[in-house]
Amino acid sequence: MIVLVVEDEVRLATSLVKGLNEDGFTAVAVGTGEQALARASAGGLRAIVLDLGLPDGDGQTVIAEIRRSSDVPILVLTARDAIDQRVRALDSGADDYLVKPFAFEELLARLRATLRRAEPTTPRRLRVGDLELVTGEPLVKVGARSVMLSPRERALVELLVGRLGEVVSRREILRDAFGYDFDPGTNLVEVHVAHVRRKLAGARLQIETLRGYGYRAREVT
Ligand code: CA
Repeated sequence: MIVLVVEDEVRLATSLVKGLNEDGFTAVAVGTGEQALARASAGGLRAIVLDLGLPDGDGQTVIAEIRRSSDVPILVLTARDAIDQRVRALDSGADDYLVKPFAFEELLARLRATLRRAEPTTPRRLRVGDLELVTGEPLVKVGARSVMLSPRERALVELLVGRLGEVVSRREILRDAFGYDFDPGTNLVEVHVAHVRRKLAGARLQIETLRGYGYRAREVT
């Protein structure tokens, strides 16, 4: 299984490939988004390390295109530390990001963490009232009704239901459910909570807002 490095700066690409190969990965590099898409569609990739500033367009478009057919872990490299670029990359489906310049050890640590998160974990069955879900599965049951959740909605519900009765902060939701280690400064959490409330309407599960603290899931009896 190959780690694909997508980077147009030849010296950086060469040193990343060398370092990754020395650390037990099999890495290859390409320099354009078009080559990245061709290589990704051929399959067999374990992860992609992708520079966002590519000569043939924004790396964000490449991420969105890859995500149409693959859930291969994508670690993004960005020269600009503009927060909106990172947010857009994560929204397009990137798993994590690194701001240039970075230490190679940092890249290795992020890559390993991303690969660990991508590994399937043993599914757990969670039940609250008439709500039943299996972790990692998009369909949840509310009584006899099946409800389809998006990956982020599912992660949010799993987090809140997994900590039933506890207050979960907005920061914890961003980090543990959405994978952000910074605050994107948007109403991402509020929007997803609203979606989930609407989709699970009628379930014997309530998601309470505790203003200034966070959210709490509890069973409605
Ligand atoms: Ca570049």
